[in-house]
Amino acid sequence: MKRQKHTVQEVINLTPETFIIRLDRMNFKFEPGQYVIIRIPDQNKGREYSIYSGVNDDYLDFLVREIPEGDFSRYLRHLKPGSELDVEGPKGYFILDEKTKQGHPAMLIATGTGISPFHSYVKSYPGLNYRVLHGVHFGDEAYGRETFSPGRYLLCTSRRDDGDYFGRLTYYLKENPVDSQMICYLCGNSDMIDEVTTLLEKYGLPPEHIRTEVFF
Ligand SMILES: Cc1cc2nc3c(=O)[nH]c(=O)nc-3n(C[C@H](O)[C@H](O)[C@H](O)COP(=O)(O)OP(=O)(O)OC[C@H]3O[C@@H](n4cnc5c(N)ncnc54)[C@H](O)[C@@H]3O)c2cc1C
Repeated sequence: MKRQKHTVQEVINLTPETFIIRLDRMNFKFEPGQYVIIRIPDQNKGREYSIYSGVNDDYLDFLVREIPEGDFSRYLRHLKPGSELDVEGPKGYFILDEKTKQGHPAMLIATGTGISPFHSYVKSYPGLNYRVLHGVHFGDEAYGRETFSPGRYLLCTSRRDDGDYFGRLTYYLKENPVDSQMICYLCGNSDMIDEVTTLLEKYGLPPEHIRTEVFF
């Protein structure tokens, strides 16, 4: 698997917990929805991160949540411009299927930083016929909202009523059934993905219309 060094351009803080780490592109080629393993140079220590930027950007962005007890995300946050990281990849198959690229309706369902591959989809293919359902705790976690068309993005906040819907995204989906023709892409934590998959199956979506990427 290809592994090469990339230089940190900047670390952009979005909230007290979440930041974008921007690397130089170095001609790195990927399909929107893929991830890489970021490693400390010349060491084996590394973690997986979905690519947040679009295929036409001249940098590589990753949206990262700093985990207080986690050492890798903390290491990334404190890097300075000019530091180097090893990037291995691209990896993964959480890419758009041809029907979605051709305009078939798609629902992009994410919790937290799970919005990352969807941000890359929409930046790379602005003509998609999509809706985003983004589940977070608080309204300031609407990462990259400006990239999505206003009528196509819905923020579900579970801990404060400062989004578009107050409650977990699974509650929203229970109150608002999904058409069985929809192609759904799910990304984030495994509890959400299990719960939403069960619900979508109940709504009659065939397995090939439910595509998933588990972060943890
Ligand atoms: C395919 C794939 C893609 C991923 N893409 C991203 C991404 O784009 N952005 C990102 O921030 N993370 C992403 N992750 C998670 C990432 O690889 C690390 O697990 C994360 O950064 C924590 O690493 P750590 O060493 O700081 O903490 P660790 O000690 O490895 O993790 C501690 C705990 O933190 C929790 N956790 C891990 N990731 C998250 C998260 N994103 N949000 C909330 N809680 C979390 C889990 O409960 C985990 O057990 C991805 C994981 C996979 C498998």
